[in-house]
Amino acid sequence: MPDDDTDKDENKVSEMRQVAKEDFQNKLHNLNMNLLTALAKPILPAGYWSKNQAARRVATSRQINLTFDDGPNPATTLELLVVLSDENVKGTFFFIGDNIRRYPELVQAVHKAGHTIANHSLDHMFLPALSTRGIEKQIDVTNNLIMEITASSAALFRPPFGLMDKRAAAILKERRMSAVYWGAMADDYRAIGEETVVKRIMHALPGNELVVLHEGHSTAQQTINATREIIKRSKELGHTFEPIQEP
Ligand SMILES: [Zn+2]
Repeated sequence: MPDDDTDKDENKVSEMRQVAKEDFQNKLHNLNMNLLTALAKPILPAGYWSKNQAARRVATSRQINLTFDDGPNPATTLELLVVLSDENVKGTFFFIGDNIRRYPELVQAVHKAGHTIANHSLDHMFLPALSTRGIEKQIDVTNNLIMEITASSAALFRPPFGLMDKRAAAILKERRMSAVYWGAMADDYRAIGEETVVKRIMHALPGNELVVLHEGHSTAQQTINATREIIKRSKELGHTFEPIQEP
């Protein structure tokens, strides 16, 4: 049946096109991330990125920091706890103050499970656009919420969109907190499919042990499944996991 063959060929061609397109998008993503990181590192105030270059050259396997941004979220947080518990891995959760207010029981659950709870601002504003008072509020109100629920203070802060200025750095210093930036990223706040998330993170891992995943509402299952797979593949490569060391 020649028609069928033609259809098959066309399917194959469109499949190949799709693979080529995804491949191109992944390469573009990696290029963008590398460029963004190279531009941002020298101008942003000091903070945690990844292990230093010398330690990296010696180590054959790596200690990976899994971090989850933008929660807590009823669609992701408890399921992530199950994945992390199954794999005996501890991670760091960067929570948004407004979400902490909405879901204090999720914060409590993460705390009880022994993961690190960190500050990701009150409502995810772009900090450089705020007044100094405004930046203080973003950090302090969220710290207080975390303290009320866990009875311990947050030592780590990740600025929304990864960007902050010297004023924010000074405010963090006064509170003996450290800024945490990013390493391996995947654009996983968009629905790009768990396989793409896993591919991008695993590709970026060498030199980028600080893995950033997002607790988005529309991408909940993608984050949960990708987390399980990233842990599995990383373990196969001999990597281990640890929460970010607090100052
Ligand atoms: Zn965020």
